Amino acid sequence: MTLDRRNFIKLLGGASGLALTGQAVAQAKSAAVSAGSAAEIMPKGSARRVVVIGGGYGGTIAAKYVRMLDKSIEVVLIERNKEFVSCPFSNFYIAGLMPDMQALTIKYDKLASNHGIKMLHAEVTAIDPAAKMVATSQGRLAYDRLIVSPGIDFMTDGIEGYDAQTPEIFPHAWKAGPQSALLRKQLQAMKDGGTVAISMPLMPFRCPPGPYERACLIASYLKKHKPKSKLILLDANPDVVSKKPLFVKAWKDYYKDNFQYISGQATKVDNKTRTLVIDNFDDYKVEVINLIPPQRAGNIAVASDLTDDKKRWCPVDAVSLESTRHKDIHVLGDATLLPSDGPAMPKSGYSANSQAKFCAINVVALMNGKPTAALSAINACYSGVSETESVSVSHVFKLVGGKIKVTATAVSPVDFSLGKIEKAYGESWLKNVLTEMST
Ligand SMILES: Cc1cc2nc3c(=O)[nH]c(=O)nc-3n(C[C@H](O)[C@H](O)[C@H](O)COP(=O)(O)OP(=O)(O)OC[C@H]3O[C@@H](n4cnc5c(N)ncnc54)[C@H](O)[C@@H]3O)c2cc1C
Repeated sequence: MTLDRRNFIKLLGGASGLALTGQAVAQAKSAAVSAGSAAEIMPKGSARRVVVIGGGYGGTIAAKYVRMLDKSIEVVLIERNKEFVSCPFSNFYIAGLMPDMQALTIKYDKLASNHGIKMLHAEVTAIDPAAKMVATSQGRLAYDRLIVSPGIDFMTDGIEGYDAQTPEIFPHAWKAGPQSALLRKQLQAMKDGGTVAISMPLMPFRCPPGPYERACLIASYLKKHKPKSKLILLDANPDVVSKKPLFVKAWKDYYKDNFQYISGQATKVDNKTRTLVIDNFDDYKVEVINLIPPQRAGNIAVASDLTDDKKRWCPVDAVSLESTRHKDIHVLGDATLLPSDGPAMPKSGYSANSQAKFCAINVVALMNGKPTAALSAINACYSGVSETESVSVSHVFKLVGGKIKVTATAVSPVDFSLGKIEKAYGESWLKNVLTEMST
């Protein structure tokens, strides 16, 4: 693609919500913290120890289930943040359908008091598989087995000009928290008659239906609060990659006057001129751009040589989720690359929760010299299509011939006849899963 075939989206006017800049930049910087103190912390006694990295959808459940299965194993859960904010349902918050992020936020204190999990709030900076040590911003600690569930980080090399400041102008809101608040603020500050663009990456990425759900809910917000405004969804994929008939119906039936779907890939940003370049795209002037970059396993997995040759996802054994690159280290959630026959398990909170349970079962089995058990897991994924309706797709995954395979699928009826009840099921799922992660 030559430069002259590229066209421009121009972001006019000041981005709103810049008050949040400091927080997000500080978080980006903390990822670069060096190995920190060499001093050993939490010295290991005679008890066997599992260290879990990442207190999100996968890590909290793995930590809890190891303790529930075998109280003689000490579990240390390392998480950089004091609270965890759920990405699932953050699109509802962004679109003004939740007053704040309280219903999306969990704390860790009950994991400690109910299960005896030792919490360490620190940045993990390195893993030494030979010495079986983890380096953190607080010091080093030893493990017998390590479970790594760090989620995703962004691959921005393919977007010229993208730097640490870019998300403050073009928020990704693909990690929930300050980024979600910034995008919501920008939408609310936009004048009626403005245009919003969502730029989504090529598969694979965290939550395949997430950008389409976001498009529906933002279009719904605009229709109600800024009826002269418009939303453009720029999809780097050649076609809709998830729940296509359901999303297409919503766009056609509910948002045909304020929504446009276009294939196009973000290739360049200019923070100063607030310009986003999309291949093969006409000039558009837009007020708010939600730029979701391509993704890979969390930085710590890449830095610790847990990723494959492309430095993207972490190959693991299909039964135990043990890394194929380093012994006694298990990887789960968004970061994994499971051997699959057909469609892979989606990178979802539901998948991470399922994987965490059978990972914990097999970690405890391996530590006790017992046989491991093969995976049988579910992923059910709800997406809002309007203020009052959601749709879902569910899959059963089983181990067949050494690979993970879909053995059953269920999709919502295309007439949205279950839309209202599925919205309630989705809300109930969120409540249950966040309670499970935090008690
Ligand atoms: C907008 C949106 C909507 C979504 N909706 C749904 C949905 O409806 N249903 C669904 O099932 N899924 C949904 N998802 C996907 C879901 O959020 C992820 O798949 C899930 O969070 C993955 O779990 P994880 O444990 O791999 O990572 P995470 O949940 O992100 O947890 C990773 C944790 O590790 C910590 N961490 C990372 N590196 C370090 C380090 N070096 N040191 C210390 N701590 C570290 C992070 O702070 C984080 O808390 C959605 C995602 C998005 C973006």
